[in-house]
Amino acid sequence: MIPYGRQDITQADIDAVEAVLRSDFLTQGPTVPRFEQAVAEYCSAQYGVAVNSATSALHIACQALGLGPGDWLWTSPNTFVASANCGLHCGANVDFVDIDSRSYNMSVEQLTAKLEIAEREGRLPKVVVPVHFAGQPCDMPAIARLAKHYGFKIIEDASHAIGANCRSEPVGRCDHSDITVFSFHPVKIITTGEGGIAMTNDAILAERLRRLRTHGITRDPNHMTEPPDGPWYYEQVELGENYRMTDLAAALGASQLDRIDAYIARRHEIAEGYDDALADLPVTTPWRDPKDHSALHLYPILINDSAGKSRREVFEAMRAAGIGVNVHYIPVHIHPVYRKLGFTHDQFPVAEDYYQRAISLPLFPGIDASSQNTVIETLGRATDSKL
Ligand SMILES: *Cc1c(COP(=O)(O)O)cnc(C)c1O
Repeated sequence: MIPYGRQDITQADIDAVEAVLRSDFLTQGPTVPRFEQAVAEYCSAQYGVAVNSATSALHIACQALGLGPGDWLWTSPNTFVASANCGLHCGANVDFVDIDSRSYNMSVEQLTAKLEIAEREGRLPKVVVPVHFAGQPCDMPAIARLAKHYGFKIIEDASHAIGANCRSEPVGRCDHSDITVFSFHPVKIITTGEGGIAMTNDAILAERLRRLRTHGITRDPNHMTEPPDGPWYYEQVELGENYRMTDLAAALGASQLDRIDAYIARRHEIAEGYDDALADLPVTTPWRDPKDHSALHLYPILINDSAGKSRREVFEAMRAAGIGVNVHYIPVHIHPVYRKLGFTHDQFPVAEDYYQRAISLPLFPGIDASSQNTVIETLGRATDSKL
C-alpha cells in the first residue's frame, strides 16, 4: 500500500532520541525548551509551548484566552474535529463558517456576513479558529481586520502548515493571531510521534499556556496567592491538564526540524508533478494562492461530474490498486456529536459539496517517482468513463 502520508526517519533522528534515552531526563528536561526555542526561531515567534498533541495545544489555547460557558468559538467545517472540540471542552458553544470553493479554507465573505448577523443578535464569537487547510494559509490579514473590528481572538490551526508563508510572513509568527498551533503527528510536515505546539508573541499568554499544560501549577512566587511555605512549595492556581511533551519527542522534533525546508521543497515537486499529470483528467487539482507559500500537507483533488464515475468508485478503485487515498474532511458539523447539538446536513453547502467529491492523493517527502506514477496511472484508469 502506498500511504497518503508517511513520516521520514533518518539515522540523525534515531541518534537524537537515543541520546535522550541515555540522559537523565526522559521528560521535563532540557530538550523540550530547546525544541520550543528552535521552532520559535524557525517561524520568528517569541514563544513556543510544546505539548503532547495539537489537540491539547488547541484546548489550552482556548483556556488561556478565557473561552468558557456562554462564549462562542467559530471554525471551518472542513477540518479535523479537534479544531471545534476545543471549544466544547471549554464548555463554549461552537459554530462554523462555510468554506471558499477555491481555497477550501474558511470563506472571508461568509465570515464577514455571519459576523454582521451575530453582532445584531448579540452573539459574536470570542474565538475564531481559521484552519490552514492542506497547508494553504487562510487570508489572515483580512481575518485579523475583522477580529479588530468585532473584538474576537484568533487561534490559527496550522496543524498542516508549519513551514508555510502567509504573504511573505512565516505561519507561526502570529502577525495576525493571538496563538498559532502546529501538529507533529507522523502524517504532518514534521513529527514528534504525537505532539504539538502553541506559538505566541504574548508573554502573559505563553506563561498561562505553560501553566495549563502542567495542571495549572505554578512555582513562581509572583503568581501565588500565599507566600511560599518553603523551597518545595508550589500552588495549583487554576485547573489545567497534563499535556506535557516528553524530551524523547522533542529530540525527534528538533532533529526533524533540521530538514523541514527540504521536506517542503520536495512536497512542492510532488504537487507540481500531479498538477501537470492530472491536467487532462476529469478532476480539479488544488489551487494554491500565488501570494502565499503552501506547506502542501495534502493534495486533495475533486472528482468532476464529467468523470462519469463517483468519488466512491474512484476511491475504491484506488484502494483496490494498493493506493492509500484518503478523504479530508468529513465536515465536522455532520458528525453525530455535532448533529446532537442541532447541526444538520446542508447547513454549510460548500464544505459538503467539497466533501462529496474530494480524494487526497499520496503526498509525502519519501514517495518515489515510480510510486507517484502508479498513483497517476491508476487515477487515470479509475476516472476513465470508457473503462
Ligand atoms: C492533525 C490535526 C489536528 C490534531 O492534531 P494532533 O496532533 O493529532 O492532535 C488538529 N487540526 C487539524 C487541522 C489537523 O489536521
